[in-house]
Amino acid sequence: MSKVIAVTGASSGIGEATALRLAAEGHHVVLGARREDRLASLAEKIRAAGGSADVRRLDVTDRHDMTAFVDAAVDAHGRIDVLVSNAGVMPLSRLDALLVEEWDRMIDVNVRGLLHGIAAALPHFQRRRGGHFVTIASIGAHEVSPTAAVYCATKYAAWAITEGLRQEADPSIRVTTISPGVTESELAGSITDPGARALMGDYRANTIPAGAIADAVAYAIAQPADVDVNEMIIRPTRQR
Ligand code: NDP
Repeated sequence: MSKVIAVTGASSGIGEATALRLAAEGHHVVLGARREDRLASLAEKIRAAGGSADVRRLDVTDRHDMTAFVDAAVDAHGRIDVLVSNAGVMPLSRLDALLVEEWDRMIDVNVRGLLHGIAAALPHFQRRRGGHFVTIASIGAHEVSPTAAVYCATKYAAWAITEGLRQEADPSIRVTTISPGVTESELAGSITDPGARALMGDYRANTIPAGAIADAVAYAIAQPADVDVNEMIIRPTRQR
């Protein structure tokens, strides 16, 4: 059955690949991110391939923006079936570099942004007794490494919030956490700290394509309504 699926952070990387994959399966995708030009090109590409997509500028750190994003999709289509909370940033650095503003940004996007999505979509899902939350967390939700303390903390939080949501939500609501390993995307572009950037060069030598994560999201969504895929970890075989 065709679903209405909202994807945050759809302007690049995993969000873009997920939107393309879900649209190719016949779902209507609602694309949100701050770079509207990128969203518009993606929507054009989806439509040219016979799919359907809407775009809306979205800053997940702004609760009202997030609510308006979900409400606009519900107004246009009568419902949303799935919210993929994918938007994230990863400006890594050692704690002693004291890049406090970057810590705040990770907390704002990766944690507050996720919570804003839940606050926006949960009332709709509860009203219609159905819906699916998909959180893109990380392998960093399970392990910590140097330069990644704050990033991993935000992903541990994303994992905990999503698991708590699963426990509390009505059984008609499905909840999935997808935890990627090192994946091709623009994520490392947000690293300003030279030491962390140098480390990332080695780390990123063996990535998997963003489509591998999109496949996992598509699998979770495609299961029957009474089957709840709670977590998948997808990493390159070479990543320990
Ligand atoms: P990208 O940098 O390619 O994509 C990040 C997306 O998040 C962009 O579309 C960006 O759009 C969006 N975004 C950032 N800030 C905001 C904001 N304030 N409001 C709305 N959208 C925002 O990286 P990935 O595709 O890799 O990242 C997607 C998710 O996957 C993230 O949550 C990341 O933590 C997670 N992840 C990625 C891994 C990897 O190795 N790539 C590994 C594990 C997890 P815009 O700038 O246009 O707003």
